[in-house]
Amino acid sequence: MAEKAPRALLIKNGIVFDPLNGIDGERMDIAVLNGRIVEDVPEKEAYVIDASGMMVMPGGVDIHAHIAGSEVNAGRLLRPEDHFKDVEPKTATARSGVGHSVPSTWTTGYRYARMGWTWVSNPSMPPLEARHTHEELDDTPIIDKATYPLLGDCWFVMEFLAAGMIEECAAYVAWMLWATKGYAVKLVNPGGLECWGFGGNVKSIDDVVPYFNITPREIIRGLAKVNHLLDLPHTIHIHTNRLGQPGNWEITVRTMDCVRDIPGTSSTGKRSIHVTHVQFSAFGGDDWASMCSMAAPIARYVNMHDHVTIDMGAVVPGDTTTMTADGPFQYGLYELTGNKWINHDVETETSSGIVPYHYRRKSLVNAVQWAIGLELALLIKDPWKGAFVTTDHPNGAPFTTYPRVIEWLMSVKAREKTLKRVNKRAIRRMVLPSIDREMTFYEIAILTRAGPAKALGLENKGHLGVGADADIAIYAIDPDRIDPGRDHRAVRRAFERAAWTIKEGRVVVKDGQVVSSPRGRTFWVHVELPDWTEEAIRSIGDAWTERYTVSFENYPIPKHYLARPYKVVRKARLEA
Ligand SMILES: [Zn+2]
Repeated sequence: MAEKAPRALLIKNGIVFDPLNGIDGERMDIAVLNGRIVEDVPEKEAYVIDASGMMVMPGGVDIHAHIAGSEVNAGRLLRPEDHFKDVEPKTATARSGVGHSVPSTWTTGYRYARMGWTWVSNPSMPPLEARHTHEELDDTPIIDKATYPLLGDCWFVMEFLAAGMIEECAAYVAWMLWATKGYAVKLVNPGGLECWGFGGNVKSIDDVVPYFNITPREIIRGLAKVNHLLDLPHTIHIHTNRLGQPGNWEITVRTMDCVRDIPGTSSTGKRSIHVTHVQFSAFGGDDWASMCSMAAPIARYVNMHDHVTIDMGAVVPGDTTTMTADGPFQYGLYELTGNKWINHDVETETSSGIVPYHYRRKSLVNAVQWAIGLELALLIKDPWKGAFVTTDHPNGAPFTTYPRVIEWLMSVKAREKTLKRVNKRAIRRMVLPSIDREMTFYEIAILTRAGPAKALGLENKGHLGVGADADIAIYAIDPDRIDPGRDHRAVRRAFERAAWTIKEGRVVVKDGQVVSSPRGRTFWVHVELPDWTEEAIRSIGDAWTERYTVSFENYPIPKHYLARPYKVVRKARLEA
């Protein structure tokens, strides 16, 4: 059944959770006209949804999931066994598809929509591979998207920063956002990826990157300043140095602390850094035998400071595929597991790697990892700081496990059930068994939609106020009649299958089935720059020709290349 797009829509009597507008479980109507939320619409002219006894939230917002681009596609090629495990049959409205941890593009869009998610940020795009990324994003239906170019190990960035040319660096980053149609500045193991080109890595944020005479600290601080100068909607978005190594929690705290004095932007306010999938960066111990959770000191740091947001990178036991731009980390994981793997170098920009991985409850390390993700969310007092719900899809688990993560966050009983089944020696290495916090639906609405939308500077997403995009999820659960601590399974089931998902005012999912499949938009940031910057950008042309296999003129993606681009305009704070 193909659902028509009604001009006016009225959702009646739902129990609404809309934290950005301070609405905590109030029974109310939501009116929609022409894809936006409005004060009211005449009932007789509207398509009416009776949401009595159901929970209404803004559409889910995923701040970090690898869903498109060359590394995702290479992951699909590397894992044929991942394809037959999960097959999406063709329906009247949906295409067929395959893939459990690295699903095909269409399947990705359907599965997010079925859970009530309507926005996904694709977090690590090698700039050189931006075309491929946008091609796949265009083929990922329903949801809106954005993608973050990897800039932390870019040669031009490191050279500008090492020379103290911060304004020129800002101009270059703005040009890269325009050229790749990107949304935010992504750093992965800053400096470490370049070291990996010589078989090395960095061990602290003060190690010097060979040939570039710059340290990770200088790269992180430099790009945070650039972010401020460009007044970008999001902060810098960072995957820390030493990710996935025992004892890495200290470098994570140092990374957060090193930008404490750097101002944010008109969207981010005091915030100057987002540290992503912190589960992988919160390990204690000296080696794998002594590895333990250090979620507590990281949460303490976040509780005491206002310039940081984080997301979980939760681990859910099961089979998945790891993929990051962190070449040395992926190589280390290959050595650890002996699994098949890919390592790749992207010219002057970044590295990458892919390794299949199975998280086992009975593995000491994996059990501790499972606990850390949850501990981070449960120990941070203010959910607007995080830890936002992510699994670093597919690194910690496929995104389809979010309902399971929500279940654990809302129920001590659900956590105890899993704790009984994990490696016994792991229990002493975590704090999870001593935490009795059970999150409310209001807090879950912050961690899964309002919080990440705010962190991303998305003015019309993550809330249901007048003027917001009508991206709405309705779940068949009555928050007044259910005790999530006890009935945690019902909570999980409700989040697995939205009763209704509405995208830009159009019904896209009904009773967990995709009923229409419109194309989502791709948001990108265009920064207005003073004239002198044009010359600065052109001046790198000669060096470019020496370094790249692609010509300078052929590098930028034209705007019309994207199927449904949405340009976010900012104005740089640069001297005229
Ligand atoms: Zn990631």
